[in-house]
Amino acid sequence: MADVIQLLPDSIANQIAAGEVVQRPASVVKELLENSIDAGARNINLIVREGGKGLIQVIDDGVGMSETDARLCFERHATSKIREAADLFNIRTMGFRGEALASIAAVAEVELRTRRAVDEVGTEVNISASELVNQQPVACSIGTQIAVKNLFFNVPARRKFLKSDSVELKHIITEFQRVALAYPEVAFSLSHNGSELYRLPASGLKQRIIGLFGKTINQHLVDCSTQTSIVNIGGYIGKPEGAKKTAGEQFFFVNGRFMKNPFLHKAVLNAYNRLLPPDTYPSYFIYFDIDPQSIDVNIHPTKTEIKFEDERMIWQILHAAVRESLGKFSVVPPIDFDS
Ligand code: ADP
Ligand code: MG
Repeated sequence: MADVIQLLPDSIANQIAAGEVVQRPASVVKELLENSIDAGARNINLIVREGGKGLIQVIDDGVGMSETDARLCFERHATSKIREAADLFNIRTMGFRGEALASIAAVAEVELRTRRAVDEVGTEVNISASELVNQQPVACSIGTQIAVKNLFFNVPARRKFLKSDSVELKHIITEFQRVALAYPEVAFSLSHNGSELYRLPASGLKQRIIGLFGKTINQHLVDCSTQTSIVNIGGYIGKPEGAKKTAGEQFFFVNGRFMKNPFLHKAVLNAYNRLLPPDTYPSYFIYFDIDPQSIDVNIHPTKTEIKFEDERMIWQILHAAVRESLGKFSVVPPIDFDS
């Protein structure tokens, strides 16, 4: 009998990887915004059409790419962010898998324009379903512009699965909010079908929260912060009377990365205890600053789950911090953080 196993061609391998990385237009938005952040951009503009199904474009003023890198960035496992295995335990960038652009380019038409400060001309690369269509020099400003068109045009089953434009736009706005909250010092804008939804100047955190959620939230925000040898916590929590009937303004960030964490969410809710009216959710914007060596962001391709080495201790520190900023309304058992 003949051997039957074959290595998959890259285009198929990329499409399979895309199934994990690119669920919907919002996943593309997340990856592109994170790349712009990693590139040191100070201004990031997101332009979307038809809930991201027609167009997702990100324009940044980051470092840009060389002519060679402009092509290489679409290869799988192509990354400038880690070089050796040890780097995996000391991650300080948003990306590191080198999978996002390869995955996106496997299921869409992508146009990239990029230029570094040292180059006189930029590079344009067009890719469609992993196939290089053309590459040529182009006049463009310093930084990177990526346009992702007709997402899933070559995977009809997935295209069909997408929801209405307005639902997909909601998911995009959620991703946009997360990145914009993680980096208030970076200016962002978002427009959909030609109308501007957000224009957020570089600012402090409070201004950024107001820019995203409106002026009224301001009167409900209280500082929440604590410094320990394990973790530093900063940010704002909402007063109980500002709590809402719908969840959606609860944000944790770890070293500049949005994190979902039901366990720590309970620490916050628990600290509010009986202060909340029934069936309401307090807003919170809580930032953990922690040694990258004591967390693992590598557990899921989208990296919204993060594993802490010492989650119980963090639970207690967070719980105490929230109680304290809610006004020391009840006795918090003393914790000796340094022991
Ligand atoms: P990762 O972010 O995990 O490295 P990506 O596929 O998202 O993988 O990107 C691959 C590489 O392309 C990055 O490591 C980076 O060098 C380059 N790159 C992507 N987007 C940008 C950008 N907006 N500006 C500059 N370089 C970029
Ligand atoms: Mg990336």
